[in-house]
Amino acid sequence: MMLAALPTLAPGAVWLVGAGPGDPGLLTVLASHALSEADIVLYDALINADLLGAMGSHGRAIAVGRRKGKVTRTEAQTVALIIRYAVAGLRVVRLKGGDPFVFGRGGEEVEALSRAGIPFRIVPGITAGIGGLAYAGIAVTRRGVNPNVTFLTAHDETGSVPLGVDWVSLARNDQTLVVYMGLSVLDEIVRTLLVHGRDHLTPVAIISHATTSWQRTLLSTLGESILAARRARLPTPAIIVIGGAADPVNIFPWFDPDEAGQTIDAPPTAFENARG
Ligand code: SAH
Repeated sequence: MMLAALPTLAPGAVWLVGAGPGDPGLLTVLASHALSEADIVLYDALINADLLGAMGSHGRAIAVGRRKGKVTRTEAQTVALIIRYAVAGLRVVRLKGGDPFVFGRGGEEVEALSRAGIPFRIVPGITAGIGGLAYAGIAVTRRGVNPNVTFLTAHDETGSVPLGVDWVSLARNDQTLVVYMGLSVLDEIVRTLLVHGRDHLTPVAIISHATTSWQRTLLSTLGESILAARRARLPTPAIIVIGGAADPVNIFPWFDPDEAGQTIDAPPTAFENARG
């Protein structure tokens, strides 16, 4: 595809690149260009390894971050590594799932690069909380259904449901919530919403491995979702949609996971990944 000249990934620079939720077709043109130019790609373990097929033959890929709940490198070590490669004059891509600035710690990494005086660029990606829903046939907003949407993480720095969130407002029955990292703490989220008055019949959709060969969508209600998720043994990563957007009457499935043609290993089994 011929587009206007793409920017050059210069030696010594770092691009923080969003890889999208999994389907390699959802890489942006700029992301795929970055991968083809990079000397080194530091990627999150959560990332679909098929995406690395866009790398040039000279490039080297290193997995960083968490794998099945185990931290292979701390965030500080990852940042130090990125900076080390950049200072050595390599063209560095830091590849993150979805969008780098949506619950991806991209903000912290950019701050560190900026402080270290390393030139950087941000390449936004398709976030799981929008693109993953689309692959399940769920419109993240829809006229007459939800005039707003709230994206939230189910984990704060302490690893539990964030307290700094206005649960009273989120529990209002007209609110649609899109919860990242929520599957392993689903019971906590559900209980918190019910305690604050949310209707137990509120529709819930849980999309596991969205946009990949293993995509599965589980539809239930707030009251039944904990049991349903446990029975279904849905694997992580999974995104949870709570509210009108997850109502079956508003869902129009179209994606056939069997046609996604993934080549990588099977995903971890249910709840192995503590980050849900
Ligand atoms: N920066 C990423 C989010 C990182 S947090 C983004 O913008 O998408 C990790 C969480 O994202 C997971 O726990 C899960 O809730 C969600 N997630 C990422 N990829 C996903 C996928 N393919 N299917 C379902 N959820 C996904």
